[in-house]
Parts: sequence; C-alpha cells; structure tokens
Amino acid sequence: MDTKGFTFKGGIHPPHFKKLTEQKAIEKAIEPKVVVVPLQQHIGAPCEALVKVGELVKAGQKIGESKSFVSANIHSSISGVVKNIGMYNTSGGSKVNCIVIESDGKFTVHESVKPMGNIDELKKEDIINIIKESGFTGMGGAGFPTHVKLSPPKDKKIDFVIINGAECEPYLTADHRIMLEKSDDVVVGAKAIMKVLDVDKCYIAIEKNKPDAIETMKKAVESIDNIEVAQLEPKYPQGDEKRLINAVTGRVVPSGGLPMDVGAVVQNVGTTATLGNTIKTGMPVIQRVVTVTGNAIKEPKNLLVRIGTSFKEVIEQCGGYSEEPGKVINGGPMMGIAQFTTDIPVIKGTSGILVLTKKESEVEEPKNCIRCGKCVEACPIHLQPLILSKLSLLNKFDETEEYHVLDCIECGSCSYVCPSKRKLVESIRVAKREVAAKRRKASK
Ligand code: SF4
Ligand code: SF4
Repeated sequence: MDTKGFTFKGGIHPPHFKKLTEQKAIEKAIEPKVVVVPLQQHIGAPCEALVKVGELVKAGQKIGESKSFVSANIHSSISGVVKNIGMYNTSGGSKVNCIVIESDGKFTVHESVKPMGNIDELKKEDIINIIKESGFTGMGGAGFPTHVKLSPPKDKKIDFVIINGAECEPYLTADHRIMLEKSDDVVVGAKAIMKVLDVDKCYIAIEKNKPDAIETMKKAVESIDNIEVAQLEPKYPQGDEKRLINAVTGRVVPSGGLPMDVGAVVQNVGTTATLGNTIKTGMPVIQRVVTVTGNAIKEPKNLLVRIGTSFKEVIEQCGGYSEEPGKVINGGPMMGIAQFTTDIPVIKGTSGILVLTKKESEVEEPKNCIRCGKCVEACPIHLQPLILSKLSLLNKFDETEEYHVLDCIECGSCSYVCPSKRKLVESIRVAKREVAAKRRKASK
C-alpha cells in the first residue's frame, strides 16, 4: 500500500495550485456582525423557521427544523437578534428563505449545547440522533443529509466505510488541513459512523500528494485495528465517491446505483471531523473550514467561518483582491459554480471560495470537434462526451438517454482535455436537466 497508490480508470491530472494554502494552518475567522442563514443548505426539503423577527437567539440554537426525512436542521451560528426572515441570494444560484441575525457581540452558547458522551459508550441510536439533530450534511460540496446516507435499507448490508480525504479538486486544502490539525476528531467521527452502520472496516482515503496528512492520520489510527489509511494516486476526480470505492476496493457501483448497492458508504473527512467535534462538545454544525484562495486573493487562507458569513466579508479577511477579479467561484475550479455577487452566505457545503484573475478566467472560443477521442479517454464513467454533447446541442435529449447521460457526474474532465475547447460538460448538463425533467413529469 505504500508504493503504488490505488486509483481508477480515466480521469485527468490538472495542476494542483494547492501551494497557495496547503501550509496555511486553519485560522478562526473574525466573528461576523450579521449572518444570513439559509433554511435550505442541503439536497432535499427546506426547513421551517422556528424563530420570529425580533427574537433573541444563541449560538447553537436550532432555528430551522426539517419536517421531512431528506432534510437537515439549521442552527444559529451566533447569538443576537433575528432581524429578518426572507429570500436572499445563495451560492447555488437561486434565492432561498434565510434567517438574518444581527450579533449581540457576545456569542453566548445555547443551553442545549453540551458534550454528548464517550464514543465507546454511545449507542448506535444515540449517534444517529446526534447526527440528525445537529444538522449534518455532506461538507464536501453535494450537501446530502448525513442521517439519510447512514440509514440504508435493511436489505443493504454495508461492509465498509470510506472516509474521503482525497480532496482532488485543484486549489482546495480545507480537508488537508483538517486531517493535519483535527485528526483526533476524524477518528472519533469515523468510529461513530462505523457504529451507526455496524461495520468493522474503515478506510481513510488520502491522495499521495498529501504525505503529511497520510502520516498524521496513520499515527492517529495506529492503535486501531479496523481503521486503515488507503493511499491514492493523485488524480481528478478521485474524490467522487464511486471512483473512490472503485479505487480502494475494486467494487463497481452499477449505473444508476448507489454506494450502498456494493456495500459501501463514503463520508467526507470534514463532515467526519465535525461529527467528532459535535460528539465531544455538543455544538451542532454552525461553522466550517473554507479555503479562500486564487491568484486574485491577496492573502489566501484556510478560515474557520461561521455559517451565514458573507463571501465578501471572508474575502476581506484575506486582504481582499490583489487585482480586479475575473471570476469568483463557490468551490473548486472543476466542479465549483461561478457567482455573480459576493453578497451570498457561506453554508455547510462551502468548501472553498476561489477568485481567479481576469486572465485566468478568459474562455477560448470552441472550435469543431476533431474526433481525437481524448474526452472519451478522460471520462471516468466511460461515457462518450462528444456524442452526448452533440445530441444535446441538437436538442435530441431522448437520444442522450441511450448514451447514459444521467450517469455523467459533471466532473468536467472531458472539457478540460478537449483540444477544440468544446463546452462539453455545459451541454451535457443541459441534456441531464431535460431528461430528469421528462422523467419527473412522466412519474406524476
Ligand atoms: S476531445 Fe474534443 S475534439 Fe476530441 S473528440 Fe472529444 S469533443 Fe472532439
Ligand atoms: S461526460 Fe460527464 S462524467 Fe464524463 S468526463 Fe465529461 S463531465 Fe465527467
């Protein structure tokens, strides 16, 4: 395991650009004066507000409750007064109902926040309740409610858990720093997840370009028999959960299937560390580590930011812009979403704020496809991006289904390698949306 790392077929090797922040220890961001906390920060149903305008709230207090299974509670990240409840822009590109809280400057912690007990003594039901109550969602970006992922149907036997520390997106280093600085929390969180799923094998998967994180995590688990560090060859999109399962175990999640279909559950390392911390302190998910980086940021950093703090404020804490920015991206350059404003809040899924220079943001005009096959070679799902894209541009969405368009994970590897600079992932995304809409309509 120490020589050749695990990997999968396909994928690409973009430059890492991680040097900007990989040596930067996590700093606590300045406490915000105002937070805008969205009532939906996850895949699934939005929460209902539990507070009214004018009400006093404390840090860690539940302010939004999920009424459906696929949803996650929301908590206040500061103490202060609720100033407004209304629709605000968010990093997902749409307006979401948010609770605006003005800080009283005291950061008083809510009475409900107290240590949850020792991990070895907590029962499976206690842990799943902690996860549900504390508002856990995947902090790697997708934002799937964690209690749902950890509640597989009875007929799905889970054999192993993979803690995803791959962090294969260029620029992002939040997970890397978490493994270096919060390895104990990662271990507590991993044990908790294993207990919930009744599994006795866990891999902490880390790309080999993070040797210090590998060493730190190895040391943290050396006395634990059933948790092992799995080293991966650095490659994008190694952090995609299905690629990760394939790389570490050789198992292949079938088309349209889920990791649990092959006995696996994958959890992001940041989510795992936060869970460890919540068990130890009782504090629900009210903050996260955000990598603020890019060549247009004066002083790139890894910041521990309260949920609801504006991107603008976070960027200012990194010295602001070093030059006029070309693009602000929520997340990494491969799968992140470009933003039209920085007046949007950090949420549980905000892994990075990337600011590119004008020059870096220039997009070349697409040329004709030369049928070189590079996109097919790079696609980690073994799709035919050139055909999918062509059918989409011709509005032949039904035909894209025959080419398994819904299996595309929108990783952007195909667009990255295309010598003709064709906007492959963009057009495929349109086809995916059309096909999914058609299916939804048909099922009504
Ligand atoms: S990589 Fe670009 S040019 Fe080459 S086959 Fe694919 S779409 Fe065509
Ligand atoms: S077709 Fe989809 S999955 Fe394949 S490389 Fe392109 S974006 Fe990635």
